[in-house]
Amino acid sequence: MSDPGGTLWVVATPIGNLEDLSARARLVLAHVAAIAAEDTRHTRQLLMHCGIGTPLLALHGHNEAAQTPVLVARLQRGEDLALVSDAGTPLLSDPGYLLVRAARAAGLRVTPVPGPSALVAALSVAGLPCTRFVFEGFLPAAAGARRNRLRELAAETRTLVFYEAPHRLLETFDDLVAAFGAARPAALARELTKIHETVLTDSLAGLRARVQADADQRRGEIVLLVAGDDAADARALAQGRRLFERLRAELPPARAARIAAEFTGAPRRALYAGGGPD
Ligand code: SAM
Repeated sequence: MSDPGGTLWVVATPIGNLEDLSARARLVLAHVAAIAAEDTRHTRQLLMHCGIGTPLLALHGHNEAAQTPVLVARLQRGEDLALVSDAGTPLLSDPGYLLVRAARAAGLRVTPVPGPSALVAALSVAGLPCTRFVFEGFLPAAAGARRNRLRELAAETRTLVFYEAPHRLLETFDDLVAAFGAARPAALARELTKIHETVLTDSLAGLRARVQADADQRRGEIVLLVAGDDAADARALAQGRRLFERLRAELPPARAARIAAEFTGAPRRALYAGGGPD
């Protein structure tokens, strides 16, 4: 039988409070041959806190492409490796995708050690709908590209989650208000699990005013959440009905409904209940 190779363990680490490192994560980090870390100095502190002496090697945005074949070869030789980032779950706005993809393509075992992520932690306390949500990660840094992206998202009905850098926060709020309107409910989750943890909920304009009035709200690590557009579905339906009425003067009703649904996003069955494909 061929050697199945080692396992790549993808290990979530704390986003602030070191006690959030799970017991299983400790065990895995202590027992693998090496840990691929986004910043070895940062991860060394975590390991020292836990009394773990496993060797570290760097895997970051600048060397991931070059390091991936080296690490896959080690896994193929039967070594177990762990992948961690500076905070939270690797790959989520962090390095690791190339390595995970290559390890899977090589038929190696890739297994998660789940744990903290700022995305899920923020959603769990923001008080915004989270049955369905969209993770947008970091918005583009360039103002034009950022505004374009937000315009594309303006009619999104699911809760939107963004990671944001503190120095861009006020500018981003200006762009969010312009794209989504001043009244859209939102939340700012800052320094989660740390001493200065703060979660503010308000309209976008309200949050902007509070962040402007208090410079402390522009410090640390930030997740921004924006409620989806709950009027978007109703607008799409109204537009769909108008288009359907216009088209059905020229086309069979089922066909008119299909085209109106395709162009407006309204559910076809809500436009024409007449049934199956035309
Ligand atoms: N992989 C990480 C995760 O699973 O959350 C995210 C890495 S990303 C490079 C870092 C960003 O996550 C920060 O700029 C901030 O937006 C968010 N973040 C990380 N830790 C946070 C915390 N304790 N509180 C709020 N946001 C945090």
